[in-house]
Amino acid sequence: MPADTKYLLLEHIVFYRNLDDEQKIVFETRIKDFLSHVSITGVGTTVEDLDRILIASGAIIVIFGFPDWRYNNISEILLYKDAFNEAYQQHGNDRTILGMVGDGALHRQMILSQASVRESFQRQDDGHNTVIHEFVHLVDKADGAADGIPEYLLSRPYLMPWIENMHKTIDEMKNNKHPDINFYGTNNDAEFFAVVSEYFFERPEALKSNHPELYQLLEQMFRPL
Ligand SMILES: [Zn+2]
Repeated sequence: MPADTKYLLLEHIVFYRNLDDEQKIVFETRIKDFLSHVSITGVGTTVEDLDRILIASGAIIVIFGFPDWRYNNISEILLYKDAFNEAYQQHGNDRTILGMVGDGALHRQMILSQASVRESFQRQDDGHNTVIHEFVHLVDKADGAADGIPEYLLSRPYLMPWIENMHKTIDEMKNNKHPDINFYGTNNDAEFFAVVSEYFFERPEALKSNHPELYQLLEQMFRPL
């Protein structure tokens, strides 16, 4: 736990700044808990306190609406200096991956690009945040499958509306509607869920006015009353 955690949070995390005093303490406690059971290892780069704070914050922002949620499906994050390719190489021209949740041999691991982690929090209102994206995949995966349907987050009556809305929106995106949603979300349901979650956390007002139903369903997921 970095000694200057509070300072780093205030300086770099808009979500934290907007919390009241009581919630700030909860956030700090959860950051501390996260960092005590998930190690962050630099691969070809040095992990700085700022990286630890940014990564843990992204993780906790996603699940802040769930006081008891812990990430039990991850134990290590590998931090690469920059983007990597499908073979986890950090050199060459085909490096487009900024983050991923591990599978198979990389089970319980996540890989993040340090450059992308930093960028994600340099602008927290552009709708892009790699850390939030990858932790949404982890939450999605907690019920067994990263399939865009987070059964643990969404109570039963909302499941069908979510699936229907998701599929309708993906189809419309493929027909060049909704340029405000990252087109990467058309890859599959899991990616759609991850990119609209980035949108939800970074540009809630825009999402609310452009896609009120999607907004409501995501609010139901991440901020259950
Ligand atoms: Zn993804």
